[in-house]
Amino acid sequence: MMQRALRPSALVPRGFDVESAVCDGAATVITVRPTSDTSLCPGCGAISGRIHSRYQRRLTDLPLAGRTVRLVVAARRFRCVTVMCVRRIFTERFDDSALAPWARRTARLDLVVHHLGVALGGRPAASFARRLMLPVSNDTLLRVVRRRGCPPFPAPSVIGIDDWAWRRNQRYGTIICDLERRRPITLLPDREPATAQAWLTGQPQIAVVARDRGGGYALAAAKALPHATQVADRWHLMENASHAFLDAVRKSMRQVRIAVGSATINPDLLTAAERIQYEGYLRREDTNAAILKQAEKRVSIKEIVRLTGHSRGLVRRVLRGQRSDVFRVRESSLEHHLPWLDAQWAAGHCNGADLWRCLKAQGFRGSVRVVTEWATRRRRAEMPDTQSLQRVPSARTIARLMTNGRDTLSKSETVTIAAIEQGVPLLVEAREIITAFHTMIRKKAHGDLDPWLERACASLVASFANGIIKDKAAVNAAIATSWSNGQTEGQITKLKLVKRQMYGRAKLDLLQARLIGAT
Ligand SMILES: [Zn+2]
Repeated sequence: MMQRALRPSALVPRGFDVESAVCDGAATVITVRPTSDTSLCPGCGAISGRIHSRYQRRLTDLPLAGRTVRLVVAARRFRCVTVMCVRRIFTERFDDSALAPWARRTARLDLVVHHLGVALGGRPAASFARRLMLPVSNDTLLRVVRRRGCPPFPAPSVIGIDDWAWRRNQRYGTIICDLERRRPITLLPDREPATAQAWLTGQPQIAVVARDRGGGYALAAAKALPHATQVADRWHLMENASHAFLDAVRKSMRQVRIAVGSATINPDLLTAAERIQYEGYLRREDTNAAILKQAEKRVSIKEIVRLTGHSRGLVRRVLRGQRSDVFRVRESSLEHHLPWLDAQWAAGHCNGADLWRCLKAQGFRGSVRVVTEWATRRRRAEMPDTQSLQRVPSARTIARLMTNGRDTLSKSETVTIAAIEQGVPLLVEAREIITAFHTMIRKKAHGDLDPWLERACASLVASFANGIIKDKAAVNAAIATSWSNGQTEGQITKLKLVKRQMYGRAKLDLLQARLIGAT
């Protein structure tokens, strides 16, 4: 590239020549003169070159070498040449991309101020601006953000709609996101169905509305966009399903207490607990193998989730190698012999070493310790001492141990869960039904919904199933399509952050300008 000397006029906005530049304390004062001889009349649009008088405009420009820049523009007043024009005299107009009429800042400085305000909000932006040698106040920053508002958005065809809290449990607003372009497009001041309906009516091209279940948004969308497909939000569906299982546990607490209360003196449970742990181990191994097999074929994480029905988090952990198991040789090697051991124990043969010798004769290859430890645990379980009397965990804990936590139970937890599973079979059924629901959603197996509903309606989670029936079309759409409000949740998180930065003085237009103007 050819090198050229830097001309002073290259430092000031386009359309001006530098007349002089002087240092005045902390600022640099640059006097400029417009290069054009003419200006457009704002009244009639005609070009005029008839100068009436001169005046000075003072503006702030971008800082230069760490110093604030004050721009003095030697501007002119022109006479309009159009006979019928109501403006006899007008002040000189410049290119809007350089100097807007009446502006106190050059357009390029205004843009920087806007970005600062959008990114940081009023007060933090003002203190940052001072360090950048941009003298703008808190109020000015917010005024610029407000004035510039939000960029117009392209007409969306797939939207997500959800509520967000202005103030928790007190006042709510609505956020609408364009799910295809992955950006928020508007905020509404409340979560009234009528407000959402009014906005949706103005966007008749919308074909898909993702929204949470049971609420005003479903109603609003049905009225405003009767032909649009409504999609129940998958994230909320999964949450509701988990909650339904928790409710089932709560409803069963009486039976749970009875089952756990008798657990410590029931030796059968130890066998059951060992089986649960062994099953958990096998299940983990199967899961790991299935996921790794897909990964070897270079299948994406999203697709593995769909194929296997496991959660995204689990698939990630397996692929990162964070779930490779400590192999439980002992339980697994003993597993096949447990029925025989139980029978021996019941018949009064309680010596671990003796039992091991008998087992060895039958072909058992494990060490003597495996069997003696089993015998010790068994003996302890039969001792009805107060210490081993089990405390009944909370419904929430039980729900967790029976589902997510099931494969990583401690020994005592396993005994408790074995007692519950043996004593309250309806809960085991409810768990299977909820697991099937989660899997159906992850696998996008919408053909499974009807048989699932039939089964669920006759179980402890019937009320959850009835809710699904009421919103069946949208739930089916949630299973079959890939639209979800997950990204809307993400925008709500961002919104909360912006709101917090405004110290509770957030107004809707400002929030909207900062959330949407930034993306
Ligand atoms: Zn005119």
